[in-house]
Amino acid sequence: MIKNGTIITASANETGDILIEGGHITVIGSSIPADGTVRTIDAEGMYILPGGVDPHVHMHLPVAGAFSSDDFHTGSRAALSGGTTTLIDFVTPARGESLVAALEKRRRKAGNSLCDYAFHVSPVEWRSTTAEEIMQCVSMGVSSFKVYMAYKDTVGLGDDDLLRVMKTVAKEGGLVTVHCEAGDEIEQIKNRFIAENKTTPEYHALSRPASLEAAAVKRAIDLAAETECPLYIVHLSSAESLNHIREAKSRGQKVYAETCPQYLMLDDSKYRGDFEETAPYVISPPLRKPDDCEALWLALSDGTIDTVGTDHCPFLMPDKRAGINDFRKIPGGAGGVEHRLSLLYTYGYLTKRLNINQMVNLFAANPAKIFGLYPRKGQIMTGSDADLVIWNPEPENIISVKTHRQNCDTNIYEGITVNGNADYVIARGKVIIENGDMVGAPENGKYLFRTICGPPVET
Ligand SMILES: [Zn+2]
Repeated sequence: MIKNGTIITASANETGDILIEGGHITVIGSSIPADGTVRTIDAEGMYILPGGVDPHVHMHLPVAGAFSSDDFHTGSRAALSGGTTTLIDFVTPARGESLVAALEKRRRKAGNSLCDYAFHVSPVEWRSTTAEEIMQCVSMGVSSFKVYMAYKDTVGLGDDDLLRVMKTVAKEGGLVTVHCEAGDEIEQIKNRFIAENKTTPEYHALSRPASLEAAAVKRAIDLAAETECPLYIVHLSSAESLNHIREAKSRGQKVYAETCPQYLMLDDSKYRGDFEETAPYVISPPLRKPDDCEALWLALSDGTIDTVGTDHCPFLMPDKRAGINDFRKIPGGAGGVEHRLSLLYTYGYLTKRLNINQMVNLFAANPAKIFGLYPRKGQIMTGSDADLVIWNPEPENIISVKTHRQNCDTNIYEGITVNGNADYVIARGKVIIENGDMVGAPENGKYLFRTICGPPVET
């Protein structure tokens, strides 16, 4: 039983009690009676939020001979400490490998996750069996498929193959998520910079201009319109791209967009400095201008952007140093899975860029809705999973590599002050975080079987 908290959902705020039984929320109301055997947490003065759904993480991702430094266990632990109780990661098969086999392998890899989890599956090529494999993945609880317009030499698809994937996924009632950057042009710029001996991390950013994101966003929207496929654009980073999304939404096209805290909080001044200082910020798309950050905040408040995911993908400095003489060899990615709520709360809600319901929507409800997990996840209602955050608005912390939970030797938000703290995090009815610390030995998370329509069921 949680008593006297201010219960915040995407649409309402009310003070009350929440009774949890068997991992679910069973009663919400005022002064719910309970006998003395029920553990009771007094949440007076606290916000009760639905557990976060992070729609974009990469645990233990192989990139150019290295792995992202959080595995499902350490990464999910960091996520929970920051109020996120559900992760959606990716299945990226090798070329020639079946999507189904790759999904099964990835599910085994995620078995030690402490959060509940699901996957987007990436068709990285089009083969005679791909349509059948997509259908099989749908029957295995996958409702979203990720394609890359960049990275043509490894996982990226050309337009013909994108169309085939979109047609198939649309027919199955699924959704395609796209990494939008015009890959061919970026390759050319990168190679030109190296030929000109421009090798530092700054040139990583300069090789991926905002215009090439916007062009890819436009192309993806056009292809999705042609195939009537619902589209979700991941990690949107620039103001220029927003216009295309606004236009598509105003036409009534099913287009959703995500941005990440790094594109809201940080700008390209982080690429000025020596390798050790700048390499942690090598991410794709790169950090943009301060004006882009402001435009993205605005897009969150006016509904142009639907979700905030983290694209959590940290790499240790010894791995980043593979690219000390060639920015192309720096594994791209940064961590942030535990900071999503505190950053949104401090720099979105407290600065009045967002109201608190919008914050919950971006952090939990919308990702759950778009990816077929709602109202089991992302909502506080009778019958929902008891994934809850008891958010203490009072504490002030400074983000630091010394105190963060993720497994990484740098933190891109180092030195940033955040307000509020996830004092308690409850996952499927169990208290996992108490007074900010992990308690006991939590059970492992479960694989979430997703559907686009109707309530998700569990396998
Ligand atoms: Zn990503």
